[in-house]
Amino acid sequence: MHDQRRWLHRIRRKDTFIRPVVPELPEVETTRRGIEPHVVGRRIARLLVHDHRLRWPVDPELDALLAGSAIRRAGRRAKYLLIETEAGTLILHLGMSGSLRVLPASTPRIAHDHVDIELDSGQTLRFNDPRRFGSLLFTSTDPALHPLLKKLAPEPLEPEFDGDYLFRITRRRAVAIKQLIMNSQLVVGVGNIYASEALFRARIRPRRAARSLKREECMKLARAIKATLAMAVKVGGTTLRDYVGADGNPGYFRQKLYVYERAGQPCRVCAKPVRQFTQGQRSTYWCANCQK
Ligand SMILES: [Zn+2]
Repeated sequence: MHDQRRWLHRIRRKDTFIRPVVPELPEVETTRRGIEPHVVGRRIARLLVHDHRLRWPVDPELDALLAGSAIRRAGRRAKYLLIETEAGTLILHLGMSGSLRVLPASTPRIAHDHVDIELDSGQTLRFNDPRRFGSLLFTSTDPALHPLLKKLAPEPLEPEFDGDYLFRITRRRAVAIKQLIMNSQLVVGVGNIYASEALFRARIRPRRAARSLKREECMKLARAIKATLAMAVKVGGTTLRDYVGADGNPGYFRQKLYVYERAGQPCRVCAKPVRQFTQGQRSTYWCANCQK
């Protein structure tokens, strides 16, 4: 943790286009939107792997496979970025501490810069990852069929995730509703912050048995999850403890949190103190007065 903070401190001063540690879905979507205008329509000039020891070893043939290919699309599925080219798709995961920056290709590398995807524009898409839990894989076929992607649950921001879906998957499950919505086999991308916030917005207690939710509550909760994630994406996914924006100000999203990390502080709706407890080894925050 200490190392990570030092790294963040260092990288903050050097670059403006950074992402915070432990990227969640909104941070990954923000990264996708950030790189999209720089990469789509460009050709990959060369792909340089400075250190192949990521979560899975990076294929040394990537440059041979991709050099000269045009990038068609910058997509995302769950927390995987999908860089679609004429030759196939790069599947990139930021892991625990990864970040992508668009820089002039001549920019000197700093520690933990592991991969450069150099573009014909003279810019490079540079992947930095101090902890190396990130990954860079390639598929020449439909990425939706890749083993990492093909069994993923619905995207919470897509129409297929809705109150009916939530009602269906909660019926026979006694697990606490907060743990259910954080289960990536049932819905992808709802991290701890978003789960606490969405349950507050829907006025549902985090410890409620999933199957005890009424249809109307499932509708409310699905809407709350979408609204919470959409707002985080809108403000740039600036959700994390360590995040400080390029201007040195704390992320805006944090100022709008209802309960997350606000234990003991007055509820923004009823002014009673926000409570905290540990659930599945994660901190949960909630208001005993507002949530039923
Ligand atoms: Zn309250």
